[in-house]
Amino acid sequence: MKESSEIPGFYKLPLEERMKLVQRLTGITEEEAKTLSSTGGLPIETADRMIENVVGGITVPLGIAVNFLINGKDYLVPMALEEPSVVAAASNAAKMARMKGGFKVTNTGPMMIGQIQVVGVPDPNGAKMKLLNHREAILAKANEQDPMLVSLGGGAKDVNVRVVSSIRGPMVIAELIVNTGDAMGANAVNTMAEAVAPMVEQFTKGRVLLRIISNLADRRLVRASAVFDKDAVGGEEVVDGIVYAYAFAKADPYRCATHNKGVMNGVVAVGIACGQDTRALEAGAHSFAAKRGGYSPLTTWEENADGDLVGTLEMPMAVGLVGGASKVHPAARAAIRILGVKTATELAEVMGAVGLAQNFAALRALASEGIQRGHMKLHARNIASSVGATGKMVDIVAQRLVAERKIRMDRAKEILEELQKK
Ligand code: NAD
Repeated sequence: MKESSEIPGFYKLPLEERMKLVQRLTGITEEEAKTLSSTGGLPIETADRMIENVVGGITVPLGIAVNFLINGKDYLVPMALEEPSVVAAASNAAKMARMKGGFKVTNTGPMMIGQIQVVGVPDPNGAKMKLLNHREAILAKANEQDPMLVSLGGGAKDVNVRVVSSIRGPMVIAELIVNTGDAMGANAVNTMAEAVAPMVEQFTKGRVLLRIISNLADRRLVRASAVFDKDAVGGEEVVDGIVYAYAFAKADPYRCATHNKGVMNGVVAVGIACGQDTRALEAGAHSFAAKRGGYSPLTTWEENADGDLVGTLEMPMAVGLVGGASKVHPAARAAIRILGVKTATELAEVMGAVGLAQNFAALRALASEGIQRGHMKLHARNIASSVGATGKMVDIVAQRLVAERKIRMDRAKEILEELQKK
């Protein structure tokens, strides 16, 4: 863009005016502006209230993963994402897991941590004791902020204090441990942390700076496991290959990043479909993976006495059914209805199972035929569309690309041109 991006009062403009201005400044066409203005299942007025400077919406495909049996209950799992193969892989993994009883998942309850940072404390360890001695008063102040949450059995339940050494010297970190019930809880916890801050200053004789939730939600874990029949997996060699793949991830952060990305393919896709804060989920997952020093897989894979494959997953899962987009986005509400979950912890458990399924599917493909065959079939259709193929032509071009094992844009273009000449 040629003009300055400094636009005072952009947020005050009516929605349509904002888009017109963006159009004028960037030169996007009327058609492009129209495409961006369509918001799918989300009314534009709702979108305008959700974030700032709204001009439209962007939709990603929503697929339904089938075959999921979790804690003895069947689920149809909505997954929203742009990446091919993920929904198919989840469904396929869930089908295999069913043979040995499906996924078993537990959770630690919806406990979140709110941090209050205190600096300039003359006696950090003495201050720690004072805070712990005033635990009840701090909890009472926190709970005054959210009578609704407290009436539902939630609220601030404990106070934890740590003296953290930093490049600016020791600081006292007071932590509120809050049961956030069916809420993800960031707003609820932040409000409590802010409310107790003056009290914390008074007890510590220091200066409070940050008062904010921690996304390392390690008191809100889901633990999932599943057994995969060795023959269904593809035999002893594939089982062995998956265990080796896990060993690789455990030994090497470069591999581990992609191992955990596979888990998050499932977790985030369900999260987006159900209106969750997926940045919080990602931050929680990766900080948890790095918590014990180094960077570890969120799952484990081993062979049991029968030679079957056993997978487990343990990770934070801060999700909610009240508050955030889960309540205001009509498509998210409908997706939650499809899933049929009644509590935030049930949603967290389903997401843990999907993460484990997704990781299994990726490892199985890698340890047997390689990831590209399945992936590329779907990718080929995207490539065909991107060079201008439409209707039946998409599949014809994609099939040729797969048969030739040349899933590339230049080749797709050649094939399309060839076919169009006929
Ligand atoms: P919220 O404040 O909108 O809703 C939570 C409130 O709903 C509770 O405080 C309670 O009063 C009420 N409530 C009613 N029924 C309830 C039930 N059954 N269980 C629990 N509470 C019930 O939302 P929230 O979950 O506190 O905050 C989530 C939002 O905060 C998300 O949009 C997230 O993106 C955002 N956020 C995240 C971060 C972060 O670091 N992760 C930081 C700031 C804000």
